[in-house]
Amino acid sequence: MANNRTFTMVKPDAVAANNEGNILGDISKAGFRIVAMKKTQLTVADAKKFYEIHAERPFYGELVEFMSSGPIVAAVLEKDNAVEDFRKLIGATNPAEAAEGTIRAKYAKSIGENAVHGSDSDENAAIEIAFHFSGRELF
Ligand code: UDP
Ligand code: MG
Repeated sequence: MANNRTFTMVKPDAVAANNEGNILGDISKAGFRIVAMKKTQLTVADAKKFYEIHAERPFYGELVEFMSSGPIVAAVLEKDNAVEDFRKLIGATNPAEAAEGTIRAKYAKSIGENAVHGSDSDENAAIEIAFHFSGRELF
């Protein structure tokens, strides 16, 4: 099961631009099944904890501020090879470097406000899913 699930967030920039439906449509068309989903807003403390791994990076403060600035859509996605295939679907962190047709190429504004999150490993996917959802919310 582990390598069949990943975690995503439609970030505040994309929700504010009313692109959550378009992005979820692209995700469904790419063959991912939605296991869990909710619209929510991270507190500053939530964003600090979620991105703890980046605490020493120069962009951490800005990232925490941005990620707690407005509502997000958090979701758990299922597909064979989910983590790797989803990273391909979203494209590079910097939309200027993201391949054509990827979600970040289509919807991201900048390297910081880049429309979506995608887990980078099966291990982190499991941690991130547990951060946002209880077992009873996974279908
Ligand atoms: N980020 C940023 N500036 C950078 C690199 C990253 O603001 O120079 C933000 C961006 O929102 C990115 C997040 O920090 O999505 C996490 O960075 P990571 O390197 O993990 O990129 P990702 O895995 O999201 O592609
Ligand atoms: Mg990352």
